[in-house]
Amino acid sequence: MPFDIQFLGAARTVTGSMHLLTVNGTTILLECGLYQGRRKEAFERNRTLPFDPASIDMMVLSHAHIDHSGNIPQLVKQGFTGNIYCTHATHDLVSIMLRDSAHIQEKDAEFVNKKHREKGLPEIEPLYVMADAEQCMGQFVGIGYDRPLPISPEVTLRFLDAGHILGSAIVVLEIREDDGTKILTFTGDLGRKHLPVIKDPVQVKETDYFITESTYGDRTHKPVVDMKEDVRQVVDETIARGGKIIVPSFSVGRTQELVYVLHELFNEKALPEIPIYVDSPLSVNITEAFRLHPECFDKETREKFLNNNQDPFGFYRLRYIRHVEDSRLLNDSTEPCMIISASGMCEAGRILHHLRNNIQNSKNTVLIVGFMAENTLGRRIAERQPLVHIFGEEIPLKAQVTILDGFSAHAGQDELLTYFLGLNRNRLKKVFIVHGEPESAEHLAGKIRESGFAAVEIPQQGQKYTL
Ligand SMILES: [Zn+2]
Repeated sequence: MPFDIQFLGAARTVTGSMHLLTVNGTTILLECGLYQGRRKEAFERNRTLPFDPASIDMMVLSHAHIDHSGNIPQLVKQGFTGNIYCTHATHDLVSIMLRDSAHIQEKDAEFVNKKHREKGLPEIEPLYVMADAEQCMGQFVGIGYDRPLPISPEVTLRFLDAGHILGSAIVVLEIREDDGTKILTFTGDLGRKHLPVIKDPVQVKETDYFITESTYGDRTHKPVVDMKEDVRQVVDETIARGGKIIVPSFSVGRTQELVYVLHELFNEKALPEIPIYVDSPLSVNITEAFRLHPECFDKETREKFLNNNQDPFGFYRLRYIRHVEDSRLLNDSTEPCMIISASGMCEAGRILHHLRNNIQNSKNTVLIVGFMAENTLGRRIAERQPLVHIFGEEIPLKAQVTILDGFSAHAGQDELLTYFLGLNRNRLKKVFIVHGEPESAEHLAGKIRESGFAAVEIPQQGQKYTL
């Protein structure tokens, strides 16, 4: 009996991941991500689900990032009552992140409504509120890596390490049919080998259908292994000038990886004795979730830290800051130090205060460790624009700007291709490329075809395939 897969989000784009699998009448939703884009369009797309949520039997979630998980509260609010399967670590992360997302949705609606009231327009409802985020958590079912679980009479689910963020999984679905078993593999977001803290991606060999992301389908990254030396150099040079290092950083993954690398450097006595601050309540909460999941840590993290009774995310020079009063105290301090803060693209949060206070001083460095999307303050700083706007003020950017791209949690083009080449060609029937801008997806498709495999599809939004 054939089964269907329909691509409902992250088709030829990178946000709003959502794919619907139907096997013998059972509907399984893979991901339910928030579509991020212009406010009005995003609001409509996220609110209008392309199916009746009550008709979905269950959901499988590959990892906690909001572009994969962020619309779950909406799905539940509109009537979805089934199980949501994910790994244990994803369960814990998503609980923190959906509440944070609800807070953003509430604030966003408040902002829009203030404008609407001024113009005499009707008020809008937030996409979802805190109570919705809390409500949906009751439907999560955490399972370990490589613990095959039958989720319907025909389908067995297995999670394998994706090496992308804590808890991230490659989703492997074994589908029993009259004439044998078919395997459908979905990469979620595919990570990279040698990232600090988490394990490397597991290579799947046997699959009939392969759905792969393609965020960096047209680019390769600097090797992860060079990052430690690059970080050491930036810190050394800035401190020698008497400056501060300001790091806009994503709360999930990037912050912990950076802290891990700094901890290693301190253990090796390779850094000057400066204070390091992680100033973001979300980052503090997420780091606590990391500590709960040593099963996700790689061999190096065990050997260097856990086996010596050391906390990879804590050392004597590092302080986590939760309270806003303590964050304000940092503004007045003139001592050389490093401040790691969120949001990652400098669109909101405490990082804005630190940037405003520090980018006018040429002794300081803004260290960029993550992807900066177009039209964000982070991108303008990365482009070293001479003047930037923060809190409505025009501020000259005189600080040094250093960009380290080796921390990327997404596989680069070469790594995506290598992963594909590890699949058994004799079994593989079709490859679907999702989660990438059209150029990235096309580029990866081209590389796969060049390798001699022709059955590659880049689905359109809403396109359905019977397999
Ligand atoms: Zn992701």
